[in-house]
Amino acid sequence: MGTEELAREIAGCRLCVEAPFRRPLPHEPRPVCVLSSSARIAICGQAPGTRVHASGRPFTDPSGERLRDWMGIGEDVFYDPSRVAIVPMGFCFPGLDAKGGDLPPRRECRLHWHDRVFRAMPQLRLKIVIGAYAQDYHLGAHHRGSVRETVAAWREILDETRAEGVAAICLPHPSWRNNAWLRKNPWFERDCLPVLKREVAALLT
Ligand code: SF4
Repeated sequence: MGTEELAREIAGCRLCVEAPFRRPLPHEPRPVCVLSSSARIAICGQAPGTRVHASGRPFTDPSGERLRDWMGIGEDVFYDPSRVAIVPMGFCFPGLDAKGGDLPPRRECRLHWHDRVFRAMPQLRLKIVIGAYAQDYHLGAHHRGSVRETVAAWREILDETRAEGVAAICLPHPSWRNNAWLRKNPWFERDCLPVLKREVAALLT
């Protein structure tokens, strides 16, 4: 199945309301993802938050601004589906927990959609992997056991995955919540981000 047909199916998905594993989604589904038959870069994140649920557009928040800065691209490229695919582990906003934090991505999404989505995009050459759920799905044996250890091993994982055909670069979430981590780990901006920018630029030309 091509990406256009698959995207249409996903847009009409009501699995988490009509046949949820446990509790149903507490609102109407609004899947937010960008599939592409030509993009060589995929942003593989977690799930939309409240702002993205409202806008229907991925990364329309300060995290998105920081991520674009990390990648060295502007909105024109970031939102060009012929060049960048955006596939979070849950396509719909999962709702909030009792403390007001985002719930984890819906498991239904991964089990029903993700293998089909990535089979439909064999042209991908770089996955930008953000967060525990995306690491778990995309890295397989390359996972280092914890999110932080995996991000710290970004260079080795990039080499290992590239040798298998689709390179993966693991990032911390670009949220302001990680500002303290970024301050404590200056190697990330010094060593990892220049490589990320180079990898992205090479695949956009
Ligand atoms: S989260 Fe995924 S599986 Fe659940 S309704 Fe949305 S698109 Fe469907």
